[in-house]
Amino acid sequence: MHHEKGLLIVLSGPSGVGKGTVRKEIFSQDDTKFEYSISMTTRKPREGEVHGMDYFFHSREEFEQLIEEEKLLEYAEYVGNYYGTPVDYVRQTMDEGKDVFLEIEVEGARQVREKFPEALFIFLAPPSLSELENRIIGRGTETKELIENRMKEARKELIMMDLYDYVVENDHVESAVQKIKSIVVAEHCKRERIQGRYKKMLEAE
Ligand code: 5GP
Repeated sequence: MHHEKGLLIVLSGPSGVGKGTVRKEIFSQDDTKFEYSISMTTRKPREGEVHGMDYFFHSREEFEQLIEEEKLLEYAEYVGNYYGTPVDYVRQTMDEGKDVFLEIEVEGARQVREKFPEALFIFLAPPSLSELENRIIGRGTETKELIENRMKEARKELIMMDLYDYVVENDHVESAVQKIKSIVVAEHCKRERIQGRYKKMLEAE
């Protein structure tokens, strides 16, 4: 049986905007049809994080080996650690006709766009920059220097909105999740994705 290849969905946006929270909400919902691609990282597991569920945790040596062997669809260094997407998982899952969902920072998203321009790029935006700053400070776990660095990074990241197909403002998690799911549904209805089937049908007549 021939089936359509799955979509590659990339959710990205500035640090502190709530990508992780939105992604977790998406995958806690039973009717979510897409597959989450679990990333590789060299950062240490946080309390409660499980290898193979939250991330695949690796040493720097192991990660650099993966880069060398071209096992990563994209990777980036973020606040001193590597993060990357396993390419075999992504390709296999899409070939099975399932949509794959990546939640990654913006540099990685830029790399995916070079390799998979046909992917669906969704930018999660903060309601405003000052709101973003409040959220980062509100975590209460970062030093002033780290906050300033993150803000500088965030300004750069906002400029990167250019490279995305859709912008979803993260005003409320639930409404952001609804919008993202709706975008995916709409993407499946794009003429370019569907017309080929009808053309074949007409040719077979
Ligand atoms: P955290 O350490 O808080 O889990 O993640 C830090 C940042 O890394 C977040 O912005 C997250 O979206 C990003 N990230 C997670 N996995 C990947 C990945 O596979 N590739 C890239 N480029 N970024 C990732």
